[in-house]
Amino acid sequence: MDGRYAFELKTPWPDGTRVIFFSGEELVARLSALVPPPRMHLVHYFGVLAPNARLRKQVVPEPPEDADQDPCGHSVAYAETRNGRTIRRRWVPWAQLLLRVFAVDVMACPRCDSRMQRIAVIQQPRVIAAMLDCLSRKEQPP
Ligand SMILES: [Zn+2]
Repeated sequence: MDGRYAFELKTPWPDGTRVIFFSGEELVARLSALVPPPRMHLVHYFGVLAPNARLRKQVVPEPPEDADQDPCGHSVAYAETRNGRTIRRRWVPWAQLLLRVFAVDVMACPRCDSRMQRIAVIQQPRVIAAMLDCLSRKEQPP
C-alpha cells in the first residue's frame, strides 16, 4: 500500500518479528546479493574431494569406459571435422538439443529425409527481412 514490499519470515525471529518491510531498492539490493557472479562455480569440493587433494584418486571412482554418455545414455560429446581434423567437445549443438528435448529433428530435410547442413548464420535484420519477403513470409510473428 505504501510502496514497500513485505517479506514474511518462515520462522519468527526471537524478538517476535514475523514480517520485514523493504523499499523497492532495498529488496533489489538484497536479492542481487544472492545472484552469483558470472562463470563462478556453484559447487565447491573440500577435503579429500578438493581438486588437488592427495587422496582424491583413491576416493573418486574412475570415469566409466564410455565417458561420452550421460546417465540417460545420451552422448555428451560432440565431434566435428574442421580442416581434416576431428575436434571433440562436450558442447552439444542446438540441433541435437532440440532433438533430445523436443524430439524435433531440425536437420532432416522435410522433402527427401537427407541431412541438411548449416551454410550461413544471418544476423542482419535487413537481410532477414529480404529473405522472408522473398519467401512470402511475414517479418513479425503472428
Ligand atoms: Zn532434401
